[in-house]
Amino acid sequence: MPTYDRRDVAFERGEGAYLFATDGRRYLDFCSGIAVTALGHAHPHLVAALKGQAEKVWHVSNLFRIPEGEALAKRLVDNSFADTVFFCNSGAEAMEGGIKLVRKYHDVTGNPHRFRIIACTQSFHGRTLSTLAAAGNEKYLKGFDPAMPGFSQVPFGNLNVLRDEISDDVAAILVEPVQGEGGVRAGDVEYLRGLRAVCDEYGLLLFLDEVQCGMGRTGKLFAHEWAGITPDVVGTAKGLGGGFPVGALLATEKAAQGMTFGTHGSTFGGNPLAMSVANAVLDVVLAPGFLDHVCEMSQLLHRKLQQLVAKHPKIFVEVRGKGLLAGLRCQIENTKVINALFRHGLVVVGAGDNVIRLLPPLIVEEKHIDEAIDKLDTAARELVGDA
Ligand SMILES: *Cc1c(COP(=O)(O)O)cnc(C)c1O
Repeated sequence: MPTYDRRDVAFERGEGAYLFATDGRRYLDFCSGIAVTALGHAHPHLVAALKGQAEKVWHVSNLFRIPEGEALAKRLVDNSFADTVFFCNSGAEAMEGGIKLVRKYHDVTGNPHRFRIIACTQSFHGRTLSTLAAAGNEKYLKGFDPAMPGFSQVPFGNLNVLRDEISDDVAAILVEPVQGEGGVRAGDVEYLRGLRAVCDEYGLLLFLDEVQCGMGRTGKLFAHEWAGITPDVVGTAKGLGGGFPVGALLATEKAAQGMTFGTHGSTFGGNPLAMSVANAVLDVVLAPGFLDHVCEMSQLLHRKLQQLVAKHPKIFVEVRGKGLLAGLRCQIENTKVINALFRHGLVVVGAGDNVIRLLPPLIVEEKHIDEAIDKLDTAARELVGDA
């Protein structure tokens, strides 16, 4: 079905931060399959893990124990706020599971009237009916009525409007610590701490969507760690499998108390192939010094992007985001910039609010950042003629 507006190019091979198209051209990949190929392309450790598991067993179903999944769950628990994990296959499925968990929590703790989730405007949580209803983006909901009930939205970053929205039926607050799709906005530390305080005051669950900003992208395993807060529920996916489809729902034991035998499931979720690859991703991301490298590259990227904006005020407005989830808000139509960059061999992706998103792999090096800035500079100089 023609649900995508595909660029007429096909990549046949990838190596680290580069992609090679069928016409022989080489591209610097600052899209990473939309924050998915966190360790770049064809990372030897991931390739070995996938091949090794492929020769053993691919799938057995959740009727049986899956040691690779038990190991991955333990590592996620040991390195996060969470006590317990549910594995699935995508970001939307993780978020869908989180919505179920939130409703179930209030049901089993004697408050079944609490079902409404307050999310944010300009957010994105996936393309299933419930995740679309959560984000409330009219463009994506159009024609799919009736929208699932039980969600409302308040402006991202505004705690006062949020407080005014709370009534007796509210179950949780759902926020992306760094909004991706909607325009690359990073919630500041005070906002994230404020969300925790509001949840504590009203007995709500704090449900964070770290599908895009999690798994090391901001320089911490999870973006909320920058604020030093403890959420109740977190959905993650994208970077977790480094390109293999896998999602995870993390929660505290308390928040997940209703998720007992028979309450949720997924046929493919957590199969040995996915689990082995995700364990290999964690081998790299959790290795000493790796997240320091991400922080170092993030600072470099943001500094150079600031300089670029200062140099090209007719093309760029501002730098946004956090870590290697960076955004450049454009003065001219963002698709013009994206197309120019593509002609110069740099792959990026758009976001809401006329932003271009820069999502290099976490293994990015200074030379890649220099190359990307060079291409951005060239494209901007070219475009200034048409602006
Ligand atoms: C991509 C994304 C999703 C949806 O993930 P899928 O794997 O496409 O279902 C949900 N939330 C956020 C923040 C995302 O960036």
